[in-house]
Amino acid sequence: LPVLALDVGGTKLAAGVVSADGSLHSFRSTETHVADGPATVIERLVDLARKALAEAGQPELAAVGIGCGGPLDPLNGVILGPPGLPGWDEVPLGSLVHAQFGVPTYVQNDATAAALGEHRWGGWDVRNLVYLTVSTGFGGGVVADGKLFTGSANQGGELGHVVVDWQGRYCGCGARGCAEAYVSGTSIAKRAVEALSGRPDSTLASLPVVTAKDVAEHARSGDSLAREIWDETVAMLGRMVAVIINICEPELVVLGGGVTRAGSYLLDPVREAALRQAMPPAAKACDVVLSHHGDAVGVFGAAAIAYHQLE
Ligand code: ADP
Ligand code: ZN
Repeated sequence: LPVLALDVGGTKLAAGVVSADGSLHSFRSTETHVADGPATVIERLVDLARKALAEAGQPELAAVGIGCGGPLDPLNGVILGPPGLPGWDEVPLGSLVHAQFGVPTYVQNDATAAALGEHRWGGWDVRNLVYLTVSTGFGGGVVADGKLFTGSANQGGELGHVVVDWQGRYCGCGARGCAEAYVSGTSIAKRAVEALSGRPDSTLASLPVVTAKDVAEHARSGDSLAREIWDETVAMLGRMVAVIINICEPELVVLGGGVTRAGSYLLDPVREAALRQAMPPAAKACDVVLSHHGDAVGVFGAAAIAYHQLE
């Protein structure tokens, strides 16, 4: 039987029906509108899920898998106040969704889930893989020797909060200098807006709201402020990927999430910096790539978590 796979992000929600061989029978996504709060967003998610089920012909389901920004408690399916989902404190997402669909429902950190999804269905055929999501937030997951790494409290592999500058910017988690405070879509936009106050000449100054997408696009069109922010972002990410390569020695680092829609404009400098700065033997054994799953990467991750739990 297929599973219903749900992806809860700070910017978008996605739902799909996936079978065990990794075929995607339906895919829907919509904006999260995170300011509406958890109750309304979960209603929207359930509605989206029903549309995805209808599109797939209302199949009987083996389970529901959900990927959501952490921190969260995967054993009980409770969301524990992720920086990208303000107000989601102690939200029992797993049981709320279970009440709607009546089949076993599993919740996992979205990036951890996506690491498993990429390992199973990414088309890579490797035993050691690190997945990094550069989306509204920034996070990661690790598959080591073919197995998902979860740690002793099921929150391990939280790569978004690796510190890249111990006296640096405050992160949504309360610590200083986490990678997430530089590399997430939210922080890319925030850093650009801060820099704008002294630079009214930037083409970003004419926008009512600045997003990471705008920063990428304006950087490409030659705006110097946007270029500085983008260059700093890819340099930080590249340096961090080098550290991860040294720690995990994976065959593959896979990048996904909305900010990677910038394509080779993001991948090329990150890959070059990471493979240049990692220890040579580890770098030689590794490559840095973009997920082939695009916007559905979180849905494949959530599906992989469901099948993983059913096995
Ligand atoms: P979620 O975090 O909800 O899963 P996404 O993975 O789509 O959502 O990530 C949203 C982020 O991706 C936003 O910060 C947005 O500005 C950024 N983004 C979207 N398109 C692009 C693009 N072409 N280039 C750079 N950033 C982008
Ligand atoms: Zn942090």
